[in-house]
Amino acid sequence: MLIAGNWKMFKGPAATREFTAAFRAPDGVGVVLAPPFVSLAVAVESGLTIYAQNVHWAEEGAFTGEISPGMLLELGVAGAIVGHSERRQYFGETDETVAKRCEAALAAGLGVIACVGELESEREAGETEDVLRRQVSVLPDDERLVIAYEPVWAIGTGKTATPEMAQDAHAFVKSLLDRPVLYGGSVKPENAAELLGQPDVDGALVGGASLEPEPFAAICRAASGVGSTEPGNGEDTSFAGV
Ligand code: PEP
Repeated sequence: MLIAGNWKMFKGPAATREFTAAFRAPDGVGVVLAPPFVSLAVAVESGLTIYAQNVHWAEEGAFTGEISPGMLLELGVAGAIVGHSERRQYFGETDETVAKRCEAALAAGLGVIACVGELESEREAGETEDVLRRQVSVLPDDERLVIAYEPVWAIGTGKTATPEMAQDAHAFVKSLLDRPVLYGGSVKPENAAELLGQPDVDGALVGGASLEPEPFAAICRAASGVGSTEPGNGEDTSFAGV
């Protein structure tokens, strides 16, 4: 099981130091934190596994506002989230740029959590599988790649996919690319155990509920309690780079 916290544009270095001083990860679960770029160095000092929220494909160059894989590695960062729906919605990220970011990050030795998921209108139109097929088809098959299924209508809305919806989508994603799949979308301590109990749910990508140490620790404990010896579940914390 892997539980990743995406802090989005919250927590500068001081708040990051406060969080990492208070947070204790339980045994038996891989934990990743993804703070904003300016807080990565402080987060790395904590000894936790730290991912960036994005990464560029070039090693250096005239790309104002971007950060390269080598720069992250130099800082001790272990990986990057790529293709989050907020990047796709607000910053023009496309399947093509997601693929380029993933490939460069993996080639550099970083882990990648690549996000996929349908809009509410796409689910209502019965297009969920088409969208997932399009988004997953560009991702490289790599042992350092983890996929996050995040239905866009469930992110930050309090609406959660039912455990059955999550299971169906995860099984479909794995039929396309056999990599661990995290669920993301309003995961909280109250719903974590049921979602994480689905056979093809290998962990969670958590936004809002990762911003305070105790709710995030509670989600991590729910994951460590899902006993299974299947790869990617229970005691197995062998996600590459975590
Ligand atoms: C996310 O940011 O990836 C996310 C799933 O957010 P939230 O948990 O707040 O819905």
